[in-house]
Amino acid sequence: MASDLLRRFLPPGRTPGLRALRALALLALLVPAMVLAGYAALTWEQQERLAEERLDRAADLLLEHATRVFDTYELLASYADELVRDLSPAGIRADEAEIHARLVRFKEALPQVQDVWLVDGQGRGLAAANVFPIPPNLDLSDRNYWRALRDGVPEPYLSDVLQGRAQSSAVFFQYARRLSPGPDGAFRGVVAVSVQPDYFRDYFARVRAFGLSSAALIRPDGYILARHPAIAPGQARLVPNAGFPQAMARNPEGGTYLGVSAQGGGPVSLAYRRLSGHPLYVVVGMSRETVRAAWLRGLVLPLAIGLPAALALFALARVALGQAGREAEALAALREETARAEEAEAARRRLDARYRAWFAHASEGLFVIAVEEPQRFVIEALSPANEAISGLDARKVEGKELSEAVPAETAAVLRARFAACAAARAPITYEDELEVPAGRRRFESSLAPILDEAGRVTHLVGASRDVTERRALEERLGQAQRMEALGQMSAGVAHDFNNILQVVVGNLDMLRRAPEARRERLIGAALQAAEQGSRITGQLLAFSRRQPLRPEPTELNALLAEVEGMLLRSLRADIRLVLAPSPVPAWVELDAAQMQTALINLAVNARDAMPRGGTLAVRLRVEGEEVALEVADTGEGMPPEVLARLGEPFFTTKRESGRGTGLGLAQVFGFVQQSGGRVEAESAPGAGTRLVLRFPRAAAGTPAAPAEPPMPAGPSAAGPLRLLLVEDTPEVAAATAGLLEARGHAVTLADGAEAALAALQGEARFDLVLSDLVMPGEMDGLALARAIRRVWPGLPVLLVSGYSDAAGEAAREGFPLLLKPVPAETLVAEITRLAA
Ligand code: ADP
Ligand code: MG
Repeated sequence: MASDLLRRFLPPGRTPGLRALRALALLALLVPAMVLAGYAALTWEQQERLAEERLDRAADLLLEHATRVFDTYELLASYADELVRDLSPAGIRADEAEIHARLVRFKEALPQVQDVWLVDGQGRGLAAANVFPIPPNLDLSDRNYWRALRDGVPEPYLSDVLQGRAQSSAVFFQYARRLSPGPDGAFRGVVAVSVQPDYFRDYFARVRAFGLSSAALIRPDGYILARHPAIAPGQARLVPNAGFPQAMARNPEGGTYLGVSAQGGGPVSLAYRRLSGHPLYVVVGMSRETVRAAWLRGLVLPLAIGLPAALALFALARVALGQAGREAEALAALREETARAEEAEAARRRLDARYRAWFAHASEGLFVIAVEEPQRFVIEALSPANEAISGLDARKVEGKELSEAVPAETAAVLRARFAACAAARAPITYEDELEVPAGRRRFESSLAPILDEAGRVTHLVGASRDVTERRALEERLGQAQRMEALGQMSAGVAHDFNNILQVVVGNLDMLRRAPEARRERLIGAALQAAEQGSRITGQLLAFSRRQPLRPEPTELNALLAEVEGMLLRSLRADIRLVLAPSPVPAWVELDAAQMQTALINLAVNARDAMPRGGTLAVRLRVEGEEVALEVADTGEGMPPEVLARLGEPFFTTKRESGRGTGLGLAQVFGFVQQSGGRVEAESAPGAGTRLVLRFPRAAAGTPAAPAEPPMPAGPSAAGPLRLLLVEDTPEVAAATAGLLEARGHAVTLADGAEAALAALQGEARFDLVLSDLVMPGEMDGLALARAIRRVWPGLPVLLVSGYSDAAGEAAREGFPLLLKPVPAETLVAEITRLAA
């Protein structure tokens, strides 16, 4: 329990320092306590010695006094004896008056002496101080003192304390001696002195200064003759315990012993002394309580001084301990924290090393961009692979803003991408053709934002891959496949042309000999055939035109209708073509040119499988989230081993006939897969073939690419349009803006391509961008249009130009273009059309 208490007040220390402090706190209590205890023990001994000394001195004092007083009685007794020594009892009686007078004088000199009696050998009173004359034959032989002395007790005789017979309240004891014996040695009587014990009591009371608790005159048998404090009437006159007789037996002359207080019963130290020549002792007592109280009083001062000091020291140590404890705790916490931080730092360094290695050796061109407000993108790091593919020098561009690091057009495109990623706060992927020191290259990139605790985008990390060659290859492959399909189609085309030429030639031939009336009809027929021929060439040219591979939202019903003529020409006259469009629009995201090629390839295969004619059915269905394009023929079908190898490049069963290349279905399968779809084939020998191309359904007319940045523009079909007018000549800009605003449109002006891009990246949304083609600065209208097409594919751009050579390039890339001067109506109509 004590240790519990200790623990509560002084929590155990955990560190050596704390333990030392705790020990100090304990010492602050223990040392004073020990000093005090030592002091107490010392003072106790001192007090004891002092008490003993006082007791001794008091005993000596009382002894001396009592001895003197009793010597006086002795003297008195001797004197009385002397008075009557030579007298017979008769002689005494005769001298009674004289003797009485002398006794009275004596008595008066000794206030405590109450009376003096002379009694003869027969117990008859001879003379007294208080009685004169003594009645004749007064018999005192019944008195104890007389009897005792007659019977030979040692002298002097000391009686019990008696109540006087004559005087009512007087209390006395007697001091008696035998009278000197006669010549024959016979008992001649006694002299008895009556003494008031109060005399001694009063004297004892005066020695209180010694701190005594009691003082007494005691007979050797323990009978108390006189005592202070007074003995109440009826109280025992014997000392209250056996201590006195035992001590007396041990040491008859004097000594000390331990007794019990007659009053309270408490322990008392006593000292006794034997009166020399008298059978009497003085006994003084000192209550142990008094000694203890004196001792305690002696301790009060050192305690009063020492205790507060010790407590203060202890409290101080405790406070220090508490503080040190808290400090130690804080220190431990700090140490733990530091260890954790160091661990984290080490982990970070390990990670850092890994990232550095990865950054240095990854095959993709890595880059880190610091995002700064507002719209500042600082190149923080470029990986060696990035340097290799872009031709940028990391040491030169690191720490620079985009616009200072790369050509303006490239910066604009990248800025739009970075802004989109930062705005989306999510990873994006994209592909751009960029002007970089390595040349004009296509990059496929992924970009991810890094957020701080507040959720602010602080950095962008990106990886780019140069896909220029791959895309070019893909494009060439697509083109080759197209030419292949065209080649496959050529027989049919040649046939058609033959027919047409035959019609033309036949009509012309007939025209030579025909009468006037028929000429007009022949010319008409020839012209109609020729027109048909030109339509075919138009279709062929359109088909063979080089087109970049680009998946776009495409409506397949429309595409089917567009390609019908080509399909017919791929087949033969003995093959019926059945087209079954879907009742609802069938939107898919794919490359339309590839789709056309695939359809031609499928038709050509069907043609080959139906040497004796048949039916080719092309059906379009929208099934849930899928668009299914079914191509079925009634041809000879395929055995399972052929069916199993369908789509394998260069796999053909037409090698002997010299017609097959084995690339047709490879294109179909590859293209469908690239478009996120799949091909299902069903065929058996003699049972025809059914191929189903399944594409994921796309939203009508909107690009489904998830990586595209949000479109700044949403085309509004009717009503006022939000137009961004890019024009460097202020007068032209003002005139055009005035014209458009007069038609209710909202016009925002930008004096160049950079300003236009900034506007597009800002808050405002636009339905169309109307831009001058030729503008000063690094970016012209075409570059702007390209950037817009890349970043915001849904936003229409209308270019206006006065220079036809620059216009040709724009037209080739498919940008709508108006040649200056543009009639106001034409401009407004074209804007409305494009924005719809
Ligand atoms: P090619 O037509 O040049 O042989 P393809 O890749 O177009 O190459 O076709 C590969 C093979 O698949 C063909 O040789 C033919 O055996 C088989 N095949 C393709 N389409 C059909 C079909 N509609 N009916 C029967 N067999 C077909
Ligand atoms: Mg084929």
